[in-house]
Amino acid sequence: EPSSLSGLPAGVGEALEAEGVAELYPPQEAAVDAGVTDGESLVAAVPTASGKTLIAELAMLSSIERGGKALYIVPLRALASEKKAEFERWEDHGVTVGVSTGNYDSDGEWLASRDVIVATSEKVDSLIRNGAPWIDDLTCVVSDEVHLVDDSHRGPTLEVTLAKLRKVNPGLQTVALSATVGNADVIADWLDAELVESDWRPIELRTGVHFGNAINFDDGSQREVPVERGEDQTARLVADALDTEEDGQGGSSLVFVNSRRNAESAARKLGEVTGSRLTGEERDRLRELAEEIRGVSDTDTSEDLADAVERGSAFHHAGLASEHRSLVEDAFRDRLIKCVSATPTLAAGVNTPARRVIVRDWRRYDGEFGGMKPLDVLEVHQMCGRAGRPGLDPYGEAVLLANSADTREELFDRYVWAEAEPVRSKLAAEPALRTHVLATVASGFAATRDGLLSFLDNTLYATQTDDEGRLASVTDTVLDYLEVNGFVERDRDGGSEGLAATGIGHTVSRLYLDPMSAAEILDGLRTVADGDDEGAGAGDFVPADGAAPGPDADADDAGFTTYTRADGDADGDADDPAEAAASDGDDGPEVTPLGLYHLVSRTPDTYQLYLKSGDREEYTEVCYEREAELLGDTPSEYEDVRFEDWLAALKTGRLLEDWANEVDEDRIAERYGVGPGDIRGKVDTAEWLLRAAETLARDVEGIDGDVVVRVREARKRLEYGVREELLDLAGVRNVGRKRARRLYEAGIESRADLREADKAVVLGALRGRERTAERILENAGREDPSLDGVDPDSSASAAAT
Ligand code: ADP
Repeated sequence: EPSSLSGLPAGVGEALEAEGVAELYPPQEAAVDAGVTDGESLVAAVPTASGKTLIAELAMLSSIERGGKALYIVPLRALASEKKAEFERWEDHGVTVGVSTGNYDSDGEWLASRDVIVATSEKVDSLIRNGAPWIDDLTCVVSDEVHLVDDSHRGPTLEVTLAKLRKVNPGLQTVALSATVGNADVIADWLDAELVESDWRPIELRTGVHFGNAINFDDGSQREVPVERGEDQTARLVADALDTEEDGQGGSSLVFVNSRRNAESAARKLGEVTGSRLTGEERDRLRELAEEIRGVSDTDTSEDLADAVERGSAFHHAGLASEHRSLVEDAFRDRLIKCVSATPTLAAGVNTPARRVIVRDWRRYDGEFGGMKPLDVLEVHQMCGRAGRPGLDPYGEAVLLANSADTREELFDRYVWAEAEPVRSKLAAEPALRTHVLATVASGFAATRDGLLSFLDNTLYATQTDDEGRLASVTDTVLDYLEVNGFVERDRDGGSEGLAATGIGHTVSRLYLDPMSAAEILDGLRTVADGDDEGAGAGDFVPADGAAPGPDADADDAGFTTYTRADGDADGDADDPAEAAASDGDDGPEVTPLGLYHLVSRTPDTYQLYLKSGDREEYTEVCYEREAELLGDTPSEYEDVRFEDWLAALKTGRLLEDWANEVDEDRIAERYGVGPGDIRGKVDTAEWLLRAAETLARDVEGIDGDVVVRVREARKRLEYGVREELLDLAGVRNVGRKRARRLYEAGIESRADLREADKAVVLGALRGRERTAERILENAGREDPSLDGVDPDSSASAAAT
């Protein structure tokens, strides 16, 4: 039992010893000396894989032993479940663990009973906004990968969240885990924390550069790895690691490249190296794994991954489905997959060490920069830090690739000898403050402008900046925006300007929407016709300007037909865009799924698809064809940026429409140049935004009730990826979009039909899969789901009749 440990729940010391923690690593020892088990706040800036997690566990467990409650904030959703699984081993010692993932607005009340809660910073932010009751009970908060406060997209959320937690709870112990960055002392200053900074690693890391015939390492040593003429440098280095046995086995490699496509093609190529070095048993196991991968989804990506994996090579990037990702990670850790080609997502926290890390690409295309930009030192260091598996490898090797002697020198200067950049707060940017100012006011952290500014004084930004006026001036700009859009009210009488969120402001904050998204959605929905056509009979044609216009709606400007049919949906088929376009409402467009998908894709909460070459022409055409469905005015083609944005949203909206029209995942992936994981991501985001839109539409005056129904339908179609007529069937567990379509074609059109249908027909539609069929019948509520005695051969004829 590590001798310096006390104040932990009974048995924890022994359990750690049983896990192989005979003594604390030096940085852990330093953390304990600094008081981390006595409730002291601490910033631990130490390299990857040097035992930061245990520092956090010691802090949390001792805090819980004193009767407290701990929160562990992770930067990625994928890490939340990994960390929860890790902490669950303490349940034997009476410590309960819960994870809060899922959607932003889901309720977190059950978490009140847990000792340790794991969540992303966005989730914690959302829980605070929604007034989760247990926030006040926290005694210890851990922020994993705190250096990500530097990220312009997600950093401000972490920053503000930590500031809020510390404000609600002045005695809170804050433990921040960081990579080795240039200014860990500033982070410690901000958090009023002790600092433990160290370069210590449990396993030796050699970093070097390969050029010509050898790797030169930072310790002065050299390893000969000659590359033949025409031979691929990366392939040679992967082969070299595999051919060098330690511990009876060759070493695995992790190759970092700069794009998904490069990751895929590298995996294919490196399969030649790994494939020729497999044992018969490995081949068999890999073939099984490849089958499992194919089973996850029926897409090209899935197929490509399986093909590579059969030969012991894999790729890994954010476009992969999460099941694919974890299959690859597990098999790599089990040493079955010998080489993984990855984009930097893998370097960010997922625990997948390798004997050798190869940083093949050290530049990446950057749109804002307008060309290839060198990676940050911190990023490269984190990739390199993945080298060396404690207990398995004698040392880790990180190798950068150079194609000239000059580049070799440059890489040494730029990365090998260099310190990581300092982190800098990105809070004082309008988009970040827009969201956080509203949330801060709405959840009662500030009731005046002065109060708001003094709250913001607790952020890293305030610690770092010399220009105090800047935060105040951006804050004022943001307050103006929030006021104009009706999200906050300002009382300018009296001493300090009073601030309060309006009803809709509260809703927007709780929904976790960027206020600009909310404004965009509300504007779009307000352009929709008032569908209460009580006076007009179905099929009557009325002049558009004869009807009472809704707010902001102007039929002529929007270019709608002047004479329209008064009822929106005479034959109940809202899916036909031609009909939808023809049946314009009185003073605005009829709501179609595409219109709504385009609307939510326009908001800053959606990452739009890029327009590739040729896309501008294609989507300009689509835009004019379907203009009547789009909610709001199409910008002029001369407004370059706005028009491009509009088209990019249209491309994204079309992807969603394809999904809701049952287009094959593969076709979608190909058509839009994305991976299956991206499709899932776009669909999830749009579902969430439509759910929010539904709430907004209900809460705000002047939006027609019919719109709410349409929004819900469009969302449900995304949820299941089906046309309207399949919604009922696809809602039955285990059915899904493809099976629902086959059942429908066999004449089974609803859940009720499933309960009544001829079992042979059901079986036939499900291609004779009995277990699946029984499960589906049961889930549909059939009393006798058993298929005993049903003849699958008779199903074909039964289906035909
Ligand atoms: P980090 O969070 O810094 O990236 P981890 O916490 O994942 O690193 O630690 C890496 C590995 O080292 C884990 O497998 C962990 O179990 C192990 N480890 C941590 N501390 C010790 C220790 N004191 N003795 C032995 N192994 C340890």
